[in-house]
Amino acid sequence: MTTVKGRFAPSPSGRMHLGNLFSALLAWLSVRSAGGRLVLRVEDLDPIRCQPAYAWQLMEDLEWLGLDWDEGGETASFWQSNRGNLYAAAFEQLREQGLVYPCFCTRIQRLNEAPHVHEVSPACPCAGLTGEEVARRSALRTPSWRVRVPLETLSFTDGLQGPYRQDLARECGDFPIRRSDGAWAYQLAVVVDDAAMGVTQVVRGRDLLSSTPRQLWLYRALGLTAPEFYHVPLLLAPDGRRLAKRDADLDMGALRRRFSPEELLGLLAQMAGQQDSAAPVTAARLAETFDWSKVPREDITVGASLLRS
Ligand code: GLU
Repeated sequence: MTTVKGRFAPSPSGRMHLGNLFSALLAWLSVRSAGGRLVLRVEDLDPIRCQPAYAWQLMEDLEWLGLDWDEGGETASFWQSNRGNLYAAAFEQLREQGLVYPCFCTRIQRLNEAPHVHEVSPACPCAGLTGEEVARRSALRTPSWRVRVPLETLSFTDGLQGPYRQDLARECGDFPIRRSDGAWAYQLAVVVDDAAMGVTQVVRGRDLLSSTPRQLWLYRALGLTAPEFYHVPLLLAPDGRRLAKRDADLDMGALRRRFSPEELLGLLAQMAGQQDSAAPVTAARLAETFDWSKVPREDITVGASLLRS
């Protein structure tokens, strides 16, 4: 049997919050309960939003909780900003298959706001440009680059959410793999890196479930083996909003002032269905009895008492 290899793949764009921690804990428990290995990869593709200081801080926060890793972390080659040559090689591989085209649409600028939310453009008019037109537009503006998706429904079975399918052309459309400023897109980098790092299991937030068919298609186009996926619930504020890095009340700084590592893990373990109560517990103790079948599928509303410090 192959050893499970999981990963933490945080973007250092702010201090970790309770929701990030919830996903990180489940990734850690899933791997450690199976005697596997963990990679910590720093997803700092966006030079504007990401800062090294956040990466150092999140490693320190994970260590404080007792969530350790076996590879990556401070190692420079595990930071996406240092892995551009691998993304360029994958880009070439796709280009040689005729799957990549330049896009001159301005909406791509929205990628700057949130790397994996606003990137869908079902019918990009740039897909049909002639060579002449591309040359004319390139003189005026640096293009971004999209991949041409097939008319195909991709399906897979998520370890937690069950069967999931997506009509790539209709529900997603040709998507960008490189921004006009040269930054590599999350979708390409995550596939290249998980494959290169030998990751066999991806545990991450449910917000990325709808990105998975795109990624599975990229694995196939690049001739790579896809990992298994577990998309875990998101944590919501009592008003139904997703917790975000700007919710300072639930960021690690505030949480560390209020709770010990064991108290915080107890709260998270209860939310994850691993304990009936929020009794303090260590990560190592939780790994002994970790059970995916007890993890809820639906998003979890955080108690108002936790939000009020
Ligand atoms: N870096 C992404 C984030 O922090 C996670 C990507 C992934 O797990 O695939 O939202």
